[in-house]
Amino acid sequence: MQCPTCQHTDSRVLESRAADGGRNVRRRRECLNCDFRFTTYERVETVPITVIKRLGGRETFNRSKLLHGLFRACEKTGVEPAQLEAVVDDIELALQQRNGREVTSSEIGELVLQQLRDISEVAYVRFASVYRQFQSVSDFVATLEGLSHPNQARSGKGKGRLAIVG
Ligand SMILES: [Zn+2]
Repeated sequence: MQCPTCQHTDSRVLESRAADGGRNVRRRRECLNCDFRFTTYERVETVPITVIKRLGGRETFNRSKLLHGLFRACEKTGVEPAQLEAVVDDIELALQQRNGREVTSSEIGELVLQQLRDISEVAYVRFASVYRQFQSVSDFVATLEGLSHPNQARSGKGKGRLAIVG
C-alpha cells in the first residue's frame, strides 16, 4: 500500500477494524519510510449490478439506498436496524450469485418482501404499502392474505408495481 506522502510501498498496520457490517476492513497504517499515518479500506470485490427502474431508467444497485428505504419503511415496526442490514446483505448476495448482471426494481422488491415476511408482518405490510403501488383494495387484501398463505402471496404479481429505486 503506497504512502500518500512519500510513495513508499511498505507500511505497518497499526489497527484493523471491520466496517460496513463486516464487508469492509478499515486499516490504520504507518509508512515504514516517513512514519506518515493513513487509513485504507479494503472491500470484498463485487460485480456492479444494474437495476432497471420501473419507468425504464437504469442505475447501479446501491446497497445504502436500499437500506435507507428499508429503514424508512420499517420505522416503528419493531424491526431492528441490524435485521434490516442482514436483509440487505442477503439480497446483495443473492444478486451477486445470479447469472445476470441486471435486475428489475420489482424483483428486488419481491426479494425484500420475501425476507420481511419472515421477520415482521407489520414491516411486511408497511413495506408493501410503501413500495408497491396498490392498484386496488383487493391488491392490498391479497398482500395481507399472503401472510397466512405464503404460497399465494405472489398471485398479485404483475399488477402491483414496485419502485425501490425512485
Ligand atoms: Zn511515507
